[in-house]
Amino acid sequence: MGMVDGWSGMHGISAVPAYVVMQPTTLCNLDCAYCYLPFRSDDHRMPVEVAAAVAASVHPWTRTGRFSVVWHGGEPLAAGREHLAALFAPFGAGVEHHVQTNATLIDDAWCAFFAEHRVRVSVSVDGPEARNGDRVTRGGRPAYDRIVRGIDALRRHGIPFSALCVVGDPRPGVAAELYEYFLDLGCEVLGINVEELEGVNTRANGHAAADVTAFWSELVSAWRADPRIHLREVEWTLRYAGAVLDGVADEVLPRQLDPIPTIAHDGSVVLLSPELAGFDDPRYGDFTSGNVLTTPLGEILAGAAGTPWIAEFLRGVEQCRATCPYFGFCGGAHAANRYFEQGRFDITETDHCRNSKIRLLEGVLDHARDHEPTAV
Ligand code: SF4
Repeated sequence: MGMVDGWSGMHGISAVPAYVVMQPTTLCNLDCAYCYLPFRSDDHRMPVEVAAAVAASVHPWTRTGRFSVVWHGGEPLAAGREHLAALFAPFGAGVEHHVQTNATLIDDAWCAFFAEHRVRVSVSVDGPEARNGDRVTRGGRPAYDRIVRGIDALRRHGIPFSALCVVGDPRPGVAAELYEYFLDLGCEVLGINVEELEGVNTRANGHAAADVTAFWSELVSAWRADPRIHLREVEWTLRYAGAVLDGVADEVLPRQLDPIPTIAHDGSVVLLSPELAGFDDPRYGDFTSGNVLTTPLGEILAGAAGTPWIAEFLRGVEQCRATCPYFGFCGGAHAANRYFEQGRFDITETDHCRNSKIRLLEGVLDHARDHEPTAV
């Protein structure tokens, strides 16, 4: 990749988000080894007043197009159907509800709930059983059978679903196996996350560069052989590569960062990186930018750059713009990875961006090089 001067995308933070993330409960019924959540054994539930306050701010944003509310936890289904329905109610019909779930609680009754509320379901599953060793119940028993039972219920009811897969060992061989698995599983969309050093998960995530690049390259090959699944990272990367070839690479990133407001159970708002919710730091405090019970969300977003850690992150993004040839593809990646890897936000490269941005793009380019038509 050559250096490109003057990337113009991703300046500052947009005042209107594309979606909000809501934490209906901090509780999770599983205890996955790589989980970053600090309070996952406590059941702090979001009161309906918090949902009502968010809904009031979201309402005008739903008029300009599709707006999503992503219920993330903890395990959102651990809040129970009745409570989740009460939290949905203030939003009315103008939003699209999503849940990110470990699937273990999904049964016929949950499927009826999803159908009734037209919920888009995304399940977290890390591939075949042997790759789910980190996913265990609070009693330490493997959770895989329960995950599969929940997914079977979705399939039985004809409910389409996405899947999110965490990969701890990105290397050749793994990608083809995973893609085959998710084809059989029947998901419509697949997101692949290389495990990150985040929150209370302190496992190292540095990998040999050649292995990670080969992992992504193999994933593209597997997908191109049978592209039935929307493969989030790969499709995005191909779009970027196409824009480079068309000379419009600078137009791929949105003009501003999406603030991705995460509303914690108590109404406090963390912007940009949901993973920072619930943490405290002597320098940055609790990372929140306000609370929807006292300040409308729109007002919190308008003042976002006044939150000290966010101001520092925006300086880091400018550093990325000035120094990194991958900026037009990456946009500076996620704030939380900078903090959890290096304790601050105004740095540039992290293991996360190496694994999930730089090597992803290199892997896709390697695939393209390997499949170039030979000159005659
Ligand atoms: S986060 Fe990493 S890949 Fe992204 S622009 Fe910054 S240095 Fe480049």
